[in-house]
Amino acid sequence: MDELKNIIRDVPDFPKKGIIFKDITTLLSDAKSYQRMIDSIANRYVGQRIDKVVGVEARGFIIGAALAYKLNAGIVLVRKPGKLPAETFKKTYDLEYGTDTLEMHTDAIKKGERILIADDLLATGGTMGAVVDMVNSMGGEIVECCFMAELEFLDGRKKLPAGKVFSLLIF
Ligand code: AMP
Repeated sequence: MDELKNIIRDVPDFPKKGIIFKDITTLLSDAKSYQRMIDSIANRYVGQRIDKVVGVEARGFIIGAALAYKLNAGIVLVRKPGKLPAETFKKTYDLEYGTDTLEMHTDAIKKGERILIADDLLATGGTMGAVVDMVNSMGGEIVECCFMAELEFLDGRKKLPAGKVFSLLIF
């Protein structure tokens, strides 16, 4: 996994001074690394019933859609405000840098469906915490929250359901 970690580029002071941004585009654009990253996450869930993968805009779509395809699951989109056309739930949350709001279609998940939530990176956990709240309020059964990478020193896991967090690469 060190190879995958090393291909992620650090961009200092983006989008604000003091933030070291983990630029995953360098991993995504390398065919072998992208495939290895998706396969490594998907293998954890092969053989389990996953009804839907929930992907978080925008980088979470790139991971969530590939996982959904591999796991024979549907893909549900969590989007920034004003993008989803039908009735939505909204959730505002704190970010490592600022605040944000996310939306999901109110009918995207049915009660009792088994849900895998996917995003690129776990930092403070604010984003995933908001998605977890929305999925829970719709009656979805969260299998796990999975990430390509985690900034462990920010303790984002503490905001998420205990024992239901998986990150492929830990920084
Ligand atoms: P958080 O809500 O703090 O866990 O932040 C997670 C979201 O913000 C993810 O969707 C990441 O794409 C993005 N993010 C936060 N911090 C970073 C960082 N240092 N490098 C890259 N992406 C980040």
